[in-house]
Amino acid sequence: MITGKNYIGNQLSATGDKIFKTFNPLLNIENDWDITEASKNEVNQAVQLASEAFKTYSKISGARKATFLREIANEIEALGDELLQVYSSESGLPNGRAMGERGRTLGQLRAFANHVEAGNWVDASIDTAQPDREPIPKVDLRKMNIALGPVVVFGASNFPLAFSTAGGDTAAALAAGCPVIVKSHPMHAGTGEMVASAVIKAAEKTGMPNGVFSNLNSSGIEVGQTLVQHPKVKAVGFTGSIKGGRALYDLAAKRDEPIPVFAEMGSINPVVLLPKALNNRADAIAKTYAGSITLGSGQFCTNPGLIIGIKSQGLTRFVNTLAEDIVKIEPSCMLHPNIAGAYETNKENALAQSGLKVLAGYENSVEPNYARQVVTTVEGDTFLNNPTLHHEVFGPFSLVVQCENKAQLETIISKLEGQLTGTIISDENEISEYSNVVNALQNRVGRIIFNGVPTGVEVCPSMQHGGPYPASTDSRFTAVGVDSIKRWVRPFSYQDWPNELLPDELKNENPLGISRLVNNVKTTAKI
Ligand code: NAP
Repeated sequence: MITGKNYIGNQLSATGDKIFKTFNPLLNIENDWDITEASKNEVNQAVQLASEAFKTYSKISGARKATFLREIANEIEALGDELLQVYSSESGLPNGRAMGERGRTLGQLRAFANHVEAGNWVDASIDTAQPDREPIPKVDLRKMNIALGPVVVFGASNFPLAFSTAGGDTAAALAAGCPVIVKSHPMHAGTGEMVASAVIKAAEKTGMPNGVFSNLNSSGIEVGQTLVQHPKVKAVGFTGSIKGGRALYDLAAKRDEPIPVFAEMGSINPVVLLPKALNNRADAIAKTYAGSITLGSGQFCTNPGLIIGIKSQGLTRFVNTLAEDIVKIEPSCMLHPNIAGAYETNKENALAQSGLKVLAGYENSVEPNYARQVVTTVEGDTFLNNPTLHHEVFGPFSLVVQCENKAQLETIISKLEGQLTGTIISDENEISEYSNVVNALQNRVGRIIFNGVPTGVEVCPSMQHGGPYPASTDSRFTAVGVDSIKRWVRPFSYQDWPNELLPDELKNENPLGISRLVNNVKTTAKI
């Protein structure tokens, strides 16, 4: 049952006076449940509790954190079909997608459980003392990663489960030993509350301190701003627009004590089509891309919003087939009227740019909140001279840039903003002639794909989901996969500390049996 209240630690609370509703974009009506925005007092209570909880939670063993994370997954599973129904009624996304995203969410929680149970993630490093060293005796130094403190997570609109309440950011922060305060996304606050109830049940069952998790509702920017400015908050995770992410980043930088904001934001995910590949299989590539551009109504951060090729017969065939095929795909519902409205505005703004030609657009009338796909094209020079064309149009929109030659292709790539992904479509042996293009692309993206599509983000240790700004605020980290835990920790050294007072990870006996760098040698051995 959805109460519309906030979880302040394990207490449901609704003392605020601002009430809002979520929206069913498929039915184009408001959902029944009322949601109460968190009051200033509740925000403060949640942070105070998190700060208290940090004192004990940051010190508990990997094994206990693993039990907690696995129990969260079990409790989310136990919410059953009701969770999937609420998810769909707050996002317009179909049941199959809801099931897939729930599976991914559970998988992430369990992967982090295994990761912290194994324990190697702390990167323990030990340099033993050499009291007899001349001329200066060497001290004993032992270093490992420790938790940063309370983390605020902003739920993403486009992944109500996998990048929201108990999504990747939350799982990673809890795994690191950081209490989490979620700023629930207003578009799916009911889904958020259900998932929060599962996290709270799991925390109680596994004996976690009250305040290890809170879930706050809001339908405006004030709650998020108060959280980011709160002196007891030590880091922020965000997925959404560049405008929102940048505003929070700037706010955090202006604090008396600046804190890191790991924001994953806009990306147009350039796709480079090499000439031989186009010459041999332009039609097949175009059909694949018609599907990728429209997948999930274009609401994936890895949506291919920009396709770049060198003028040729092959490129002409590609644009013609893309134009023919894209309009055969039935439009689908967007997440919310605001997102559908933003798509229309941004699309119109792009279409109004001089030199931009529409290749094809779905023209039949559609239900409210459905997005009509459009593919467009522009000359290389025009693209280079108009920064508006470099910006994301969140939705099923893509722009094909037609370059004069290889040199212009390279210039265009090197002038792009930072991106999550880049893709090269090449024939056998062709790519070796384009090493400058590949190098230019590598400088602009976090992940490079060979002969595929950027949509589809595998959750595994080798995934990099993040890239140069504005794809993310810190390209050194990933938002997906177990390495994302590194955003929520800092390295910490003990010098000449008595063995019995050290954390288990750094004790001579290596009681956890983890892999450590001891005097420059990787080993699981005791000292
Ligand atoms: P958003 O507008 O960036 O909002 C995300 C969250 O941040 C919301 O909870 C919002 O709070 C909060 N927020 C936004 N601006 C803020 C500010 N100045 N101060 C404090 N909090 C702030 O993203 P969205 O609602 O998910 O979708 C809107 C647009 O973002 C989309 O149309 C799309 O362009 C883009 N988007 C991009 C991606 C991507 O992966 N590239 C993913 C999702 C969305 P309130 O809603 O309560 O105001």
